[in-house]
Amino acid sequence: MTESWNPWHGCHKISAGCKHCYVYREDAAFGTEIPSDQVRKTSSFRLPLKKDRHKNFKYPSGTMFGLCFTSDLLIEEADPWREEIWEIIRQRRDCTFFFFTKRIDRLAACLPADWGEGYEHVAVGCTVENQDRADYRLPIFLSLPIRHRLLIVAPMLERIDLRPYLNPQHIEEVSASGESGKYARTLDYNWILDLRAQCIEAQVPFCFHQTGSYFLKDGKTYHIPREKQISQARKAGIDTREPRL
Ligand code: SF4
Repeated sequence: MTESWNPWHGCHKISAGCKHCYVYREDAAFGTEIPSDQVRKTSSFRLPLKKDRHKNFKYPSGTMFGLCFTSDLLIEEADPWREEIWEIIRQRRDCTFFFFTKRIDRLAACLPADWGEGYEHVAVGCTVENQDRADYRLPIFLSLPIRHRLLIVAPMLERIDLRPYLNPQHIEEVSASGESGKYARTLDYNWILDLRAQCIEAQVPFCFHQTGSYFLKDGKTYHIPREKQISQARKAGIDTREPRL
């Protein structure tokens, strides 16, 4: 069972991949009055500890919580709240947690005192969108104490050479995606195939997660509706691991 846990909502844009951020798009679509860059706690702040009427945890042992999909776990505004999040994660060692961040350069300052070499039940995903951000974020990512590292290439904006960073001892998987939305930038399938080849060579599992809205293949650009972007990527049949989600 996978569950989204969004203890806070709102984010501010920090790099090229944020240009058409889905949080801003969704807020605009719902007519949310609070600006999307105003970070605020949500009513789901303590979600993993919710109990049912029998006083059992609502989310059973083994639940996989995906954390902070409508913000960034490491965003500055949440610094006063994060220790409570670590405490909840410690209380639910019977579950697993993962989060993706574009702020991996803040992780060291955000870790709890007992983190050590990393919590066994927490996976950290570093997101990169182009070569420049890969070359900045990945050396930091690889230098940090983390038990489970995921590398998220999304939205993929250009051909990226990840070979200096691909080591199966340190990266458990690479997942690549295009960008969604009306103004999305086009994903070239050749970039995906090139990245996949790099992963195969390095023996790091690879997943083509979703195509994005505009997908260039064999010289033709396709418009892929939102609801088909994941299934179309699956149809390519190029994953070298079972999908995580
Ligand atoms: S870091 Fe993620 S959530 Fe925050 S603005 Fe960028 S794309 Fe949006």
